[in-house]
Amino acid sequence: MIEFLCILMGVVAGITVVGALLLPRLERRDGEAKDEKDAESIMGSADQLQLISNRLAANVSAHNAKMGAISQSISSPDLAQPERLVAAINEIFSANQAMQSQLELAQRQIKQQTRLIEQASQQARTDVLTGLANRRALDEFVNNSIQTNDGEDNTSCLGLVLFDIDHFKSFNDTYGHITGDAVLSSFAKSLAQWCGDECYPARYGGEEFAVVFTDSSLENIAQRAANLRHFASSQMIQHEDLELNVTASAGLCAIQPGDQLSSAYERADEGLYRSKKNGRNQGFWLSHDGWLPFPQAGSSNPKTPAKPQKTTASSAPVCSPPPEPKAPEPAPVPAPTIEGPTIQTVPLSEDVLDLGNFTERLEPNLKKWNSGDLPVSAFMVEALGLTAEKDPAGEHWSKIVATVQRNVRGIDILCAYRPNTLCVVLPGCSLDAGIERVNQIKECESKLRTKTPFDNFAFSICKISCLENAPGLLNRLEAALDEAHDLKPTEFVVHNGDSVSYRDFE
Ligand code: GH3
Ligand code: MG
Ligand code: MG
Repeated sequence: MIEFLCILMGVVAGITVVGALLLPRLERRDGEAKDEKDAESIMGSADQLQLISNRLAANVSAHNAKMGAISQSISSPDLAQPERLVAAINEIFSANQAMQSQLELAQRQIKQQTRLIEQASQQARTDVLTGLANRRALDEFVNNSIQTNDGEDNTSCLGLVLFDIDHFKSFNDTYGHITGDAVLSSFAKSLAQWCGDECYPARYGGEEFAVVFTDSSLENIAQRAANLRHFASSQMIQHEDLELNVTASAGLCAIQPGDQLSSAYERADEGLYRSKKNGRNQGFWLSHDGWLPFPQAGSSNPKTPAKPQKTTASSAPVCSPPPEPKAPEPAPVPAPTIEGPTIQTVPLSEDVLDLGNFTERLEPNLKKWNSGDLPVSAFMVEALGLTAEKDPAGEHWSKIVATVQRNVRGIDILCAYRPNTLCVVLPGCSLDAGIERVNQIKECESKLRTKTPFDNFAFSICKISCLENAPGLLNRLEAALDEAHDLKPTEFVVHNGDSVSYRDFE
């Protein structure tokens, strides 16, 4: 027990430190509303952790006091009577059980707060509009790459490309900012789709994007960057009754050992400037011979290694000072845009409780329901595959929650149990009635999936037995839900007392 407690306290302290480390980072940044929301969320978790540890400390003190009292009563001479001894042993036993439950609950709450901190940290590195890595994440990524590149490995080269959408201001003026946002979102989607796991795309800011490439030479990277620029600039997008497209200009340079982040951005930006000057819808890269136009675009498959250009460059790129800029002025005008989702954040309803409030409300009710012989069932539902990248603002999750709420009634208790997982308690519902509800929610799955990027629902359901306590119930449901991850999407898990079974949806 003491060992368990120490581990738990260690976890609390660790998480509080994580929160404390994250906060200054968030506060240092430009005061965007999103940053404030992320910081608030982490502060909220830090407060929760503080509460959990205070509550735990109070519980431990109460437990110690109880043990002290029992120990005194044992040393009393009256204890010669065997029934007094048995009573004292029973008291110790039930005090230990209560302590065990409190520890389990605290552990569960800490786990939930850890997940929330991880989620907030992920969101703090994600651009809300496009779902790509944001500038903060990009800076970290490039800085880490610079630090880990000691220059000894000359078989691998790192390249930074900046893309800037052409004439985007006049696009906004013509089609409006909402359509402009949809275009940015679609442009980002094209970058992400092309890059896959092969390179690192990010939103640099506004209508500018960055991609970090690794390859055996900068020539190869120039070819791949040319392919990507061509791919993203030739996507036609249906938007309402318009068919639109935007083009982008690009600048590429190598990131070298000992480089400065700002110098790398400046060099890539210079390539961008040359592309704009030279007529837009093109790219320039800094070879060891100076600035060159991008090679002609070839295969747009990032996994096909680019054919190296015939070049005099050595395998390790050298960034020499740029030659004088070339002359001509731009002319081509874009024919922008793209379809895109309407970004809308729907806050979770107040009827959805957090884990702390949920268990607080559950405990006394469990006693009441058990004494009244009322049938009660409960289920957990998880939206599998709904990652923070796919749903950075949580709007898809909100839609799922709303769907679940439509299928449960006013007296049911809902809890946002962990990311993308709801726990629902159904007082007055037998196991069969609960399964009926689960079936109803399952029926909405395919319709929901057309609009929200999750794979399928995992469900676990159980009948609440008499003498059940909140941690025991949640343990059972969570273990069953984890088992449901491995089932076919047409199956769910029923945890009925001691036995677990798998059932098919109707
Ligand atoms: P150039 O070809 O020289 O890059 O011309 P440009 O019009 O794209 O460049 P400029 O820097 O003059 O304008 C950038 C425009 O991008 C202006 C700004 O309103 C728009 N923009 C920046 N961020 C967003 C955004 O999040 N949504 C929308 N809709 N527009 C944005
Ligand atoms: Mg710009
Ligand atoms: Mg622009």
